[in-house]
This record gives sequence, structure tokens and C-alpha cells, in this order.
Amino acid sequence: MRLIFLGAPGAGKGTQAALVSKELNIPSISTGNILREAVRNGTEIGLQAKSYMDAGKLVPDEVIIGIIRERVSQPDCNGGYILDGVPRTIPQAEALERSGIHFDRVISLEVEDEVIEHRMTGRRVCPACGASFHVTANPPTKEGICDVCGAELVIRSDDAVETVRSRLKTFHAETEPLKAFYEKQGVLRLVKGDQDIDLAFAEIMKVIGEA
Ligand code: ADP
Ligand code: ADP
Ligand code: ZN
Repeated sequence: MRLIFLGAPGAGKGTQAALVSKELNIPSISTGNILREAVRNGTEIGLQAKSYMDAGKLVPDEVIIGIIRERVSQPDCNGGYILDGVPRTIPQAEALERSGIHFDRVISLEVEDEVIEHRMTGRRVCPACGASFHVTANPPTKEGICDVCGAELVIRSDDAVETVRSRLKTFHAETEPLKAFYEKQGVLRLVKGDQDIDLAFAEIMKVIGEA
């Protein structure tokens, strides 16, 4: 099973990808998490990506395509995987096709911009494992501590209101056209992201089950 989770920044891609990953026992691959780790480690890719991420802009396609090709060729991806937040542009989607990679389902999590802006102020993330929480909608068991790995949660610097607005703009301009791209292939399914996390999860499992 190969899946793509598409959606605005903060639509709930990471949250749902973690749940589906556990349910189906396939890895979830987040380019955002991979890039943030590269920035933290000061690698070549990290140095290339940092200024784009800080500005709420997309990292160049060549960088992303390289990361994904390398990641999906690992043995743990043999039984399928979830792409969380990638592809994000038509050229990225085309590059995946050229690599002979096809998808069973593309889940688009639908959330209004106003809801996103409000949501992002409460997001807390784990810098160690990438898990995503929310102070009210999805709080960790112990305040400020990651349920998955025990590290201290942080606020992402690009979750500042101004950067979120710029990320939303980028989303509408560059990522939303992917819906038509995958609609044509008959694999796109829309799921309301503005409902309780467990309800959205149930709906996602239903549309995956029909694949
Ligand atoms: P969110 O889903 O909340 O927008 P991500 O963690 O997926 O956040 O992405 C954070 C940032 O990393 C993006 O704003 C962008 O700069 C960069 N990024 C992540 N994935 C991609 C991608 N597929 N293409 C280009 N840039 C990306
Ligand atoms: P994305 O990966 O799309 O950027 P996240 O999964 O990190 O989004 O979710 C963004 C924020 O919204 C997090 O704080 C998360 O806990 C919260 N969240 C996720 N799904 C929901 C939901 N259905 N209702 C309310 N808040 C949610
Ligand atoms: Zn963690």
C-alpha cells in the first residue's frame, strides 16, 4: 500500500500518518521531519533548506526528490509507505512517476485557512521523533513531554502566524494543483480534516480499505 497525505500546513497530515502507519505497519515518511533533522545536524541538505523553511517557502524540488528516492529505496519501504507532505509540487509528483512509483490512494485533508491559523498556535512537536501534539485538541499525557519517546516538546519556529500565512499561500499556489493531478488518476479521496482526530482517522481507514 502506497499512500500520499496531502493538505495545508497543519491540516493534520502528520497526526493521521502516525495513526495509519501504526494501523497498517508501514513507515510514514515526512520530508519536513527529514529536513528539520538535516538542519539540526548542519548537513549539506540542511544548509540548503534552512532559509526556505524559515521563510515558509518550499525547498527546491531537486533536493526533495533526492531525499525521497533515497528513502523509499530502503528495505522497510518494501511493503509500502505513507508520504506525509510530499509531493508538494507538480514537478515532484512527475519525478515520482518517472521513478516508476505509483500510489494506491492520495488522501487530501481538507481544512479551511482560518481553522489552520488558529490550530497552529497550539501545535507542539517532538524535535527527536517528529510526533505532533496540540495543547488542547491532542495533548500529550505529560505536559510538554513526547508520549512516543519522552523528549521535551517544542514550538516550531515556522509556526509563527506570519510564516503560517506565507505557507498557506504557497500551499494554495503550488500544492493544491496536485489534487487535480491525482483526481485524473482516480486515486484522490477528500477527507474532512476539521473533525475529531479519531473520526478523521476512521474515515481515512475506510477510503484506504476501498483501495
Ligand atoms: P507542514 O505540513 O506543517 O507544512 P512540514 O513539516 O511538512 O510542515 O514542512 C515544513 C517545511 O519544510 C515547509 O514549509 C517547506 O519549507 C519544507 N518542506 C517539507 N516538505 C517539502 C516538500 N515536499 N517540498 C518542498 N519543501 C518541503
Ligand atoms: P500537518 O502534519 O498537516 O502539518 P499536524 O498533524 O502536525 O499537521 O497537525 C497540526 C496541529 O493540529 C497539531 O497541533 C495537531 O495536534 C493538531 N490537529 C491535528 N488533527 C486535528 C484535528 N482533527 N482537530 C484538531 N486539531 C488537530
Ligand atoms: Zn518524540
